[in-house]
Amino acid sequence: MLPVRDDALAILNRLGVPDSAFSDKGLAARSPITGEVIATVRETAPEEATAAVGRAHAAFSEWRKVPAPRRGELVRLLGEELRESKDDLGRLVTLEAGKIISEGLGEVQEMIDICDYAVGLSRQLFGLTIATERPDHRMMETWHPLGVCGVISAFNFPVAVWSWNAALALVCGDPVVWKPSEKTTLTALATAAIFKRAADRFGGVPDGLHEVLIGGRAVGEVLVEDRRVPVVSATGSTAMGRQVGPKLAGRFARAILELGGNNAAIVAPSADLDLALRGIAFAAMGTAGQRCTTLRRLFVHESVYDALLPKLRKAWSSVKVGDPREPGVLVGPLIDKAAHDAMERALGEARAAGGEITGGVREHAEAFPEAHYVAPALVEMPAHAGPVLRETFAPILYVMRYSTFEEAVAMQNAVGAGLSSSLFTLDMREAERFISVEGSDCGIANVNIGPSGAEIGGAFGGEKETGGGREAGSDSWKAYMRRATNTINYGTTLPLAQGVTFDIGD
Ligand code: NAD
Repeated sequence: MLPVRDDALAILNRLGVPDSAFSDKGLAARSPITGEVIATVRETAPEEATAAVGRAHAAFSEWRKVPAPRRGELVRLLGEELRESKDDLGRLVTLEAGKIISEGLGEVQEMIDICDYAVGLSRQLFGLTIATERPDHRMMETWHPLGVCGVISAFNFPVAVWSWNAALALVCGDPVVWKPSEKTTLTALATAAIFKRAADRFGGVPDGLHEVLIGGRAVGEVLVEDRRVPVVSATGSTAMGRQVGPKLAGRFARAILELGGNNAAIVAPSADLDLALRGIAFAAMGTAGQRCTTLRRLFVHESVYDALLPKLRKAWSSVKVGDPREPGVLVGPLIDKAAHDAMERALGEARAAGGEITGGVREHAEAFPEAHYVAPALVEMPAHAGPVLRETFAPILYVMRYSTFEEAVAMQNAVGAGLSSSLFTLDMREAERFISVEGSDCGIANVNIGPSGAEIGGAFGGEKETGGGREAGSDSWKAYMRRATNTINYGTTLPLAQGVTFDIGD
């Protein structure tokens, strides 16, 4: 296996990231696999960010006039380039975000999927024709491009989140200005290089159609505050959303907020326990607990608790933690020390509250002193309280007993976040109640699969402190366009609506 740094630099070179993207005094790009610095990346100064928004704003005047199916052709080419670069970009996701190889590749597959979806969508951006009460009139709605779309993304889906937004925004006629996480700049630069190849093949793409801003919060704020950006899709913690949301509201910009989750699953008396075990294990331990949809709270019916828990403890104790490039490893590293500290804090609180912990200890500290590998923690809690009520972005699964379905649903809904949820049951009445109005209050409610691992055809997002935004499939595209209602009079008289008369005489 190549050393991490050599591996990453070779990929960046193959993908065509220019030397000008790097600078000795730039932002350190680290690999969580070893903790080493791979490269230092040139940061975007605030005035450069403003200039980039200006270029994107100018590009809008041209791009909005390109017919939507033609815009779809650019996204089709992007999908082709992503297919071509899937192995390299997927591996770079592994090297920079620490995901296991299949999840790194899966992230790129998700980018390809949304490109395919957006290409079809580019011929389906339609509005309604609506019955009008006035004779010789026609009423309809038209969808127009909205303007520059700002994208702020988190470290844990360093490139897929960009594609969910960019593929849709581009076919909708909106230029994109992307502020990736400061922790995953290399995958962003690689993605920008891939996009550039697609744009070059397309030919005649206006300058500024796609801009990338490298840096932290300060450069993100430039994007949020610029009046020439009418829609900002911001993915990250609820704390970030609390800062970004009011600023966007203050200037009446559209916000697509995709924030933190504290997702739950319920295991009912009738559940298929082997299927539940597999669903729970992937949702709680996959991506080292660093998905917004990671399963963090598990409510197990008291009648099956003693049957399920030994299976969970066994899975938690036997899962292989380590270098995500190695075959057989299912849990890679945490992103950084801050994530590890937060995990330790939460486990300390859980222990003080009477929680019984399986796992949760640091591993490979001698081999990788600068990296943070932890065994996933399974915590049997006496009550739904304390650290259970907040999102700790690490692999901790809190387990609690319940006795009635209503009690389980009430606990599930009793947290700030409202992203994803699931129920394991073979009782169709319970299943239907769970997804009904009196069931889960989340944006995603599943039955007999875990809460994580969504596909792009559905609208993705959550309620309450998750921010209410929706991305990817269904009618999420509407957030990137503006709707105009048009009434056309093809008659010779002017009847007013609601029977109003306004006779100004001859
Ligand atoms: P984070 O909130 O630390 O950062 C996310 C992004 O926001 C980064 O690019 C950061 O630079 C930027 N940012 C932070 N403050 C800002 C501000 N005031 N103005 C403008 N930009 C600002 O999140 P993270 O640690 O990278 O990611 C983990 C979090 O993201 C978790 O809470 C997770 O649940 C959430 N997440 C949510 C979704 C979703 O779709 N709901 C998806 C992935 C991650």
